[in-house]
Amino acid sequence: MPGPPQPALTRRGSIRSALDQAHSTRRCPVGPRIRHRPDSWLQRGGNDIPGGSPSAAPIISEIIGQVIAWYGDNARDLPWRHPGTSPWAVLVSEVMLQQTPVPRVRPVYETWLHRWPGAGDLAADSPGEAVRMWGKLGYPRRALRLHEAAVVITDRYAGVLPADLPSLLSLPGVGDYTARAVASFAFGQRHAVVDTNVRRFTARAVLGQGAAAPPSVGRDLALVESMLPAEPVRAARFSVAAMELGALVCTARTPSCPACPVRSRCAWQLAGRPAYDGPVRPAQRFAGTDRQVRGLLLDVLRSSYDAVPDAALTVAGSEAGQQKRALASLLGDGLVVVLPDGRYALPGGPEG
Ligand code: SF4
Repeated sequence: MPGPPQPALTRRGSIRSALDQAHSTRRCPVGPRIRHRPDSWLQRGGNDIPGGSPSAAPIISEIIGQVIAWYGDNARDLPWRHPGTSPWAVLVSEVMLQQTPVPRVRPVYETWLHRWPGAGDLAADSPGEAVRMWGKLGYPRRALRLHEAAVVITDRYAGVLPADLPSLLSLPGVGDYTARAVASFAFGQRHAVVDTNVRRFTARAVLGQGAAAPPSVGRDLALVESMLPAEPVRAARFSVAAMELGALVCTARTPSCPACPVRSRCAWQLAGRPAYDGPVRPAQRFAGTDRQVRGLLLDVLRSSYDAVPDAALTVAGSEAGQQKRALASLLGDGLVVVLPDGRYALPGGPEG
């Protein structure tokens, strides 16, 4: 199938000229807090980003080789990485992994794929069952969107997940990250795939920062795109390997640098591990929030195959006003429906 067009932002030449300009002003568009660090290979290479410097290219190539080799020896045995995993299963895994850690996703993923091995299987079931099976993965609108995507894949693509980026992006619930991840991991295409782990790894290893700045899609994609190997399958391999390294070694709080395959090339190490002093994103609270109450109300409906009365939808320790607000938002999102007799149910079931 034809490969997707490359966004202009990710072309190496564009990055280079932007960097040349940035260096004249000491501000870098791909790393707003980059400082002059004479001991960093980035500076020795003459630019702050590998793709912008021919002399840095061998170092980047070395890092890529080291990360890929490390992945070959250390990758976790995860079901969505098994040979023969279908593109649909890769999509399911990526949607589930968007905001939920691997240990919580794994059992739900396996149960989900056992029940609905293909998009057509899910499309033939009700959206309420998708919400029920989603369990406690959080952000349950993803279950509804995945069901909607299954319907579109079945109706428009005869049950076969399309491989090109624009078609993937046209599916409900599939955003830029998910489309790129599926195109790379399911179809072996060359796309920058940037999640939190990749952002942290590249911020340290390439930019010499102790932590990643808050996300900036254009800047983050440009940096990773500048590093990607030209060969699509190798690029996809590097993407998943960098993600794994960020998840297992280059972790947020205590990176295991002695075990890292790129430690001798890591810009942050070479710069003396300076403390990060750039902008940070405030931590999100969960306990006591409407989001938590929504989840608890949904638990009541998931555990019942019958519709439930208003009186059953209560959450201990939560005010009536907050419960009402949470229930209204569940209804607004289509995760819950109200029946003519006033009871509540998951959508699309025998009663909903
Ligand atoms: S050496 Fe440490 S900080 Fe650098 S990439 Fe490896 S784990 Fe991350």
